[in-house]
Amino acid sequence: MSFLSKQKVIDGFQKAKASKTKEWRDNLPTWCPGCGHFTGLHGLYEAAETLKILPKDFVVVSGIGCSGRFPFFIKGFGLHGLHGRAIPIATGIKVASPDLTVVVVGGDGDGVGIGGGHFPHAARSNFNLTYILLDNSIYGLTKGQVSPTSPMGMKSGTSPYGNIARPLNPTTLALAYGATFVARTFSRERDMVSDLITRAIQHKGFSFIHDLSPCVVFNKDVTYGSVNSVTAQLPEEHDILDRSNAMSLAESTEPVYQGLFFQEEIPSFDDHVKQVKDGLNKSD
Ligand code: SF4
Ligand code: MG
Repeated sequence: MSFLSKQKVIDGFQKAKASKTKEWRDNLPTWCPGCGHFTGLHGLYEAAETLKILPKDFVVVSGIGCSGRFPFFIKGFGLHGLHGRAIPIATGIKVASPDLTVVVVGGDGDGVGIGGGHFPHAARSNFNLTYILLDNSIYGLTKGQVSPTSPMGMKSGTSPYGNIARPLNPTTLALAYGATFVARTFSRERDMVSDLITRAIQHKGFSFIHDLSPCVVFNKDVTYGSVNSVTAQLPEEHDILDRSNAMSLAESTEPVYQGLFFQEEIPSFDDHVKQVKDGLNKSD
Protein backbone atom coordinates (compact mmCIF):
# COMPACT_ATOMS: atom_id res chain seq x y z
CA MET A 1 0.00 0.00 0.00
CA SER A 2 2.75 2.38 -0.95
CA PHE A 3 0.29 5.10 -2.06
CA LEU A 4 -0.51 5.76 1.63
CA SER A 5 1.90 8.32 3.03
CA LYS A 6 3.46 7.57 6.40
CA GLN A 7 1.76 10.67 7.79
CA LYS A 8 -1.64 9.47 6.60
CA VAL A 9 -1.13 6.13 8.36
CA ILE A 10 -0.06 7.88 11.60
CA ASP A 11 -3.06 10.25 11.36
CA GLY A 12 -5.34 7.25 10.92
CA PHE A 13 -3.98 5.49 14.02
CA GLN A 14 -4.26 8.67 16.11
CA LYS A 15 -7.79 9.23 14.96
CA ALA A 16 -8.74 5.67 15.82
CA LYS A 17 -7.18 6.06 19.28
CA ALA A 18 -9.09 9.26 19.97
CA SER A 19 -12.32 7.89 18.55
CA LYS A 20 -15.39 7.48 20.72
CA THR A 21 -16.42 4.42 18.76
CA LYS A 22 -14.95 2.07 21.40
CA GLU A 23 -18.47 1.86 22.83
CA TRP A 24 -19.60 0.11 19.69
CA ARG A 25 -16.78 -2.41 19.35
CA ASP A 26 -17.51 -6.03 20.13
CA ASN A 27 -15.46 -9.14 19.26
CA LEU A 28 -12.07 -8.47 17.70
CA PRO A 29 -12.42 -8.57 13.89
CA THR A 30 -10.91 -11.69 12.34
CA TRP A 31 -10.36 -10.26 8.86
CA CYS A 32 -6.91 -10.28 7.25
CA PRO A 33 -4.80 -7.21 8.04
CA GLY A 34 -5.47 -4.57 5.38
CA CYS A 35 -8.87 -5.95 4.34
CA GLY A 36 -11.10 -3.17 3.05
CA HIS A 37 -13.96 -4.29 5.29
CA PHE A 38 -12.32 -2.63 8.33
CA THR A 39 -13.23 0.78 6.91
CA GLY A 40 -16.88 -0.19 6.46
CA LEU A 41 -16.98 -1.47 10.04
CA HIS A 42 -15.38 1.71 11.36
CA GLY A 43 -17.87 3.73 9.29
CA LEU A 44 -20.74 1.92 10.92
CA TYR A 45 -19.23 2.48 14.41
CA GLU A 46 -18.97 6.19 13.65
CA ALA A 47 -22.47 6.42 12.22
CA ALA A 48 -24.02 4.67 15.23
CA GLU A 49 -22.05 6.93 17.58
CA THR A 50 -22.86 10.13 15.67
CA LEU A 51 -26.57 9.34 15.47
CA LYS A 52 -26.68 8.37 19.17
CA ILE A 53 -28.38 5.09 18.39
CA LEU A 54 -28.67 2.72 21.33
CA PRO A 55 -27.44 -0.86 20.82
CA LYS A 56 -30.86 -2.14 21.90
CA ASP A 57 -32.39 -0.35 18.88
CA PHE A 58 -29.77 -1.50 16.36
CA VAL A 59 -29.63 -4.65 14.21
CA VAL A 60 -27.06 -5.75 11.64
CA VAL A 61 -28.01 -8.59 9.31
CA SER A 62 -25.47 -10.28 7.06
CA GLY A 63 -25.29 -13.15 4.61
CA ILE A 64 -22.30 -15.41 3.98
CA GLY A 65 -18.78 -14.38 3.06
CA CYS A 66 -16.01 -12.50 4.84
CA SER A 67 -18.46 -9.60 5.20
CA GLY A 68 -20.89 -12.02 6.85
CA ARG A 69 -18.90 -11.80 10.09
CA PHE A 70 -19.81 -8.13 10.48
CA PRO A 71 -22.52 -8.57 13.17
CA PHE A 72 -20.00 -10.23 15.53
CA PHE A 73 -17.82 -7.14 15.59
CA ILE A 74 -20.38 -4.47 16.51
CA LYS A 75 -22.67 -4.06 19.51
CA GLY A 76 -26.43 -4.35 19.16
CA PHE A 77 -28.38 -7.25 17.75
CA GLY A 78 -27.08 -9.23 14.82
CA LEU A 79 -27.99 -12.08 12.56
CA HIS A 80 -25.52 -13.98 10.38
CA GLY A 81 -28.01 -15.43 7.92
CA LEU A 82 -28.04 -17.67 4.89
CA HIS A 83 -26.08 -16.98 1.74
CA GLY A 84 -27.81 -14.23 -0.24
CA ARG A 85 -30.75 -14.01 2.15
CA ALA A 86 -29.79 -11.08 4.35
CA ILE A 87 -32.24 -8.67 2.68
CA PRO A 88 -35.40 -10.76 3.21
CA ILE A 89 -34.42 -11.41 6.83
CA ALA A 90 -33.83 -7.69 7.36
CA THR A 91 -37.13 -6.69 5.75
CA GLY A 92 -38.93 -9.13 8.05
CA ILE A 93 -37.24 -7.59 11.09
CA LYS A 94 -38.11 -4.08 9.91
CA VAL A 95 -41.77 -4.92 9.22
CA ALA A 96 -42.15 -6.54 12.64
CA SER A 97 -40.27 -3.78 14.50
CA PRO A 98 -40.32 -0.57 12.44
CA ASP A 99 -38.61 1.47 15.18
CA LEU A 100 -35.35 -0.49 14.94
CA THR A 101 -32.44 0.77 12.87
CA VAL A 102 -31.74 -2.13 10.52
CA VAL A 103 -28.54 -2.36 8.48
CA VAL A 104 -27.77 -5.09 5.95
CA VAL A 105 -24.14 -5.86 5.17
CA GLY A 106 -23.02 -8.22 2.44
CA GLY A 107 -20.51 -8.86 -0.28
CA ASP A 108 -20.71 -8.82 -4.06
CA GLY A 109 -21.30 -12.56 -4.44
CA ASP A 110 -23.88 -12.55 -1.67
CA GLY A 111 -25.70 -9.41 -2.83
CA VAL A 112 -25.74 -9.43 -6.64
CA GLY A 113 -24.97 -13.11 -7.26
CA ILE A 114 -26.66 -15.60 -4.97
CA GLY A 115 -29.03 -13.01 -3.42
CA GLY A 116 -29.44 -10.89 -6.54
CA GLY A 117 -33.19 -11.51 -6.72
CA HIS A 118 -33.91 -9.78 -3.41
CA PHE A 119 -32.14 -6.48 -4.01
CA PRO A 120 -34.61 -5.04 -6.61
CA HIS A 121 -37.66 -5.75 -4.46
CA ALA A 122 -36.25 -4.16 -1.32
CA ALA A 123 -35.30 -1.10 -3.37
CA ARG A 124 -38.59 -0.68 -5.25
CA SER A 125 -40.60 -1.21 -2.04
CA ASN A 126 -38.50 1.51 -0.37
CA PHE A 127 -38.04 -0.42 2.86
CA ASN A 128 -36.46 1.83 5.44
CA LEU A 129 -33.19 -0.13 5.53
CA THR A 130 -29.54 0.66 4.89
CA TYR A 131 -27.73 -1.82 2.65
CA ILE A 132 -23.91 -1.70 2.58
CA LEU A 133 -22.44 -3.83 -0.18
CA LEU A 134 -18.72 -4.45 0.43
CA ASP A 135 -17.47 -5.15 -3.08
CA ASN A 136 -14.09 -6.83 -3.50
CA SER A 137 -14.92 -8.39 -6.89
CA ILE A 138 -14.15 -11.89 -5.65
CA TYR A 139 -15.42 -14.64 -3.37
CA GLY A 140 -12.87 -14.09 -0.59
CA LEU A 141 -14.06 -16.50 2.11
CA THR A 142 -13.85 -19.47 -0.26
CA LYS A 143 -10.36 -18.43 -1.35
CA GLY A 144 -10.76 -16.58 -4.62
CA GLN A 145 -13.35 -17.44 -7.24
CA VAL A 146 -14.71 -14.92 -9.76
CA SER A 147 -17.78 -13.04 -8.55
CA PRO A 148 -20.49 -11.13 -10.46
CA THR A 149 -18.43 -7.93 -10.19
CA SER A 150 -15.06 -9.36 -11.28
CA PRO A 151 -13.69 -7.56 -14.35
CA MET A 152 -13.48 -9.38 -17.67
CA GLY A 153 -10.16 -11.11 -18.12
CA MET A 154 -9.53 -11.48 -14.37
CA LYS A 155 -7.70 -14.68 -13.52
CA SER A 156 -8.81 -16.65 -10.48
CA GLY A 157 -9.15 -20.21 -9.22
CA THR A 158 -12.27 -20.60 -11.35
CA SER A 159 -11.08 -18.55 -14.33
CA PRO A 160 -7.48 -19.65 -14.99
CA TYR A 161 -7.66 -18.28 -18.58
CA GLY A 162 -9.43 -15.06 -17.56
CA ASN A 163 -13.05 -14.19 -16.67
CA ILE A 164 -15.21 -14.31 -19.81
CA ALA A 165 -18.38 -12.69 -18.37
CA ARG A 166 -19.04 -8.94 -18.14
CA PRO A 167 -19.22 -7.57 -14.59
CA LEU A 168 -22.37 -6.20 -12.95
CA ASN A 169 -22.27 -2.67 -11.58
CA PRO A 170 -24.12 -2.59 -8.22
CA THR A 171 -24.43 1.23 -8.24
CA THR A 172 -26.29 1.27 -11.56
CA LEU A 173 -28.42 -1.67 -10.43
CA ALA A 174 -29.51 0.25 -7.32
CA LEU A 175 -30.41 3.28 -9.44
CA ALA A 176 -32.33 1.14 -11.94
CA TYR A 177 -34.19 -0.68 -9.15
CA GLY A 178 -35.49 2.61 -7.75
CA ALA A 179 -33.38 2.94 -4.58
CA THR A 180 -33.99 6.34 -3.01
CA PHE A 181 -30.42 6.85 -1.72
CA VAL A 182 -27.47 5.59 -3.77
CA ALA A 183 -23.80 6.19 -2.98
CA ARG A 184 -20.44 4.69 -3.92
CA THR A 185 -17.44 4.80 -1.61
CA PHE A 186 -13.91 3.38 -1.50
CA SER A 187 -12.49 1.89 1.67
CA ARG A 188 -9.37 4.02 1.40
CA GLU A 189 -11.57 7.10 2.00
CA ARG A 190 -12.38 6.57 5.64
CA ASP A 191 -14.11 9.90 6.31
CA MET A 192 -16.27 9.61 3.21
CA VAL A 193 -17.32 6.07 4.14
CA SER A 194 -18.33 7.18 7.66
CA ASP A 195 -20.15 10.26 6.41
CA LEU A 196 -22.14 8.44 3.75
CA ILE A 197 -23.09 5.55 6.05
CA THR A 198 -24.36 8.12 8.56
CA ARG A 199 -26.43 9.90 5.90
CA ALA A 200 -27.70 6.57 4.56
CA ILE A 201 -29.00 5.58 8.01
CA GLN A 202 -30.64 8.98 8.40
CA HIS A 203 -32.37 8.61 5.04
CA LYS A 204 -35.98 7.48 5.32
CA GLY A 205 -36.28 4.72 2.74
CA PHE A 206 -33.99 2.19 1.07
CA SER A 207 -30.42 3.49 1.17
CA PHE A 208 -27.64 1.73 -0.69
CA ILE A 209 -23.89 2.09 -0.33
CA HIS A 210 -21.61 0.40 -2.83
CA ASP A 211 -18.30 0.29 -0.97
CA LEU A 212 -15.27 -0.68 -3.05
CA SER A 213 -13.48 -2.79 -0.45
CA PRO A 214 -10.41 -4.66 -1.76
CA CYS A 215 -9.54 -8.22 -0.72
CA VAL A 216 -5.79 -7.97 -0.13
CA VAL A 217 -5.23 -11.72 -0.14
CA PHE A 218 -7.09 -13.28 -3.08
CA ASN A 219 -7.69 -10.50 -5.59
CA LYS A 220 -4.51 -9.54 -7.41
CA ASP A 221 -6.35 -7.49 -10.06
CA VAL A 222 -8.73 -5.28 -8.06
CA THR A 223 -6.42 -3.78 -5.43
CA TYR A 224 -6.14 -0.55 -3.42
CA GLY A 225 -3.71 0.69 -6.04
CA SER A 226 -5.84 -0.22 -9.07
CA VAL A 227 -9.02 1.23 -7.55
CA ASN A 228 -7.18 4.33 -6.37
CA SER A 229 -5.84 4.96 -9.87
CA VAL A 230 -9.34 5.19 -11.41
CA THR A 231 -11.55 6.73 -8.71
CA ALA A 232 -12.61 10.37 -8.59
CA GLN A 233 -15.13 12.46 -6.66
CA LEU A 234 -18.45 13.14 -8.37
CA PRO A 235 -18.54 16.48 -10.19
CA GLU A 236 -19.66 19.26 -7.83
CA GLU A 237 -22.39 20.36 -10.21
CA HIS A 238 -24.08 16.95 -10.16
CA ASP A 239 -27.71 17.26 -8.99
CA ILE A 240 -28.53 14.37 -6.64
CA LEU A 241 -32.21 14.57 -7.66
CA ASP A 242 -31.31 13.73 -11.28
CA ARG A 243 -31.53 9.93 -11.53
CA SER A 244 -30.65 9.73 -15.22
CA ASN A 245 -27.49 11.83 -14.82
CA ALA A 246 -26.64 9.74 -11.74
CA MET A 247 -26.98 6.66 -13.92
CA SER A 248 -24.61 7.92 -16.59
CA LEU A 249 -22.05 8.98 -13.97
CA ALA A 250 -22.39 5.59 -12.24
CA GLU A 251 -21.74 3.78 -15.53
CA SER A 252 -18.42 5.56 -16.04
CA THR A 253 -15.37 3.33 -15.65
CA GLU A 254 -12.78 6.04 -16.24
CA PRO A 255 -13.09 7.58 -13.79
CA VAL A 256 -15.07 5.45 -11.36
CA TYR A 257 -16.97 8.11 -9.44
CA GLN A 258 -17.55 8.02 -5.71
CA GLY A 259 -19.92 10.08 -3.59
CA LEU A 260 -23.68 10.48 -3.30
CA PHE A 261 -25.24 9.84 -6.73
CA PHE A 262 -28.90 10.11 -5.90
CA GLN A 263 -31.32 10.88 -3.08
CA GLU A 264 -35.04 11.51 -3.12
CA GLU A 265 -37.61 11.72 -0.33
CA ILE A 266 -40.73 9.71 -1.13
CA PRO A 267 -42.96 7.67 1.21
CA SER A 268 -41.21 4.58 2.56
CA PHE A 269 -42.73 1.13 2.96
CA ASP A 270 -43.53 1.99 6.61
CA ASP A 271 -45.40 5.14 5.52
CA HIS A 272 -47.54 3.16 3.08
CA VAL A 273 -48.34 0.54 5.71
CA LYS A 274 -49.37 3.30 8.13
CA GLN A 275 -51.59 4.88 5.45
CA VAL A 276 -53.34 1.57 4.82
CA LYS A 277 -53.83 0.97 8.57
CA ASP A 278 -55.20 4.50 9.09
CA GLY A 279 -57.62 3.98 6.19
CA LEU A 280 -58.84 0.68 7.65
CA ASN A 281 -59.35 2.27 11.08
CA LYS A 282 -61.41 5.09 9.55
CA SER A 283 -63.67 2.68 7.68
CA ASP A 284 -64.35 0.61 10.86
FE1 SF4 B 1 -10.75 -9.57 3.59
FE2 SF4 B 1 -9.99 -11.09 1.53
FE3 SF4 B 1 -9.10 -11.63 3.97
FE4 SF4 B 1 -11.65 -12.04 3.34
S1 SF4 B 1 -9.89 -13.11 2.47
S2 SF4 B 1 -10.88 -11.09 5.24
S3 SF4 B 1 -12.08 -10.34 1.95
S4 SF4 B 1 -8.67 -9.76 2.78
MG1 MG C 1 -16.73 -10.60 -2.49
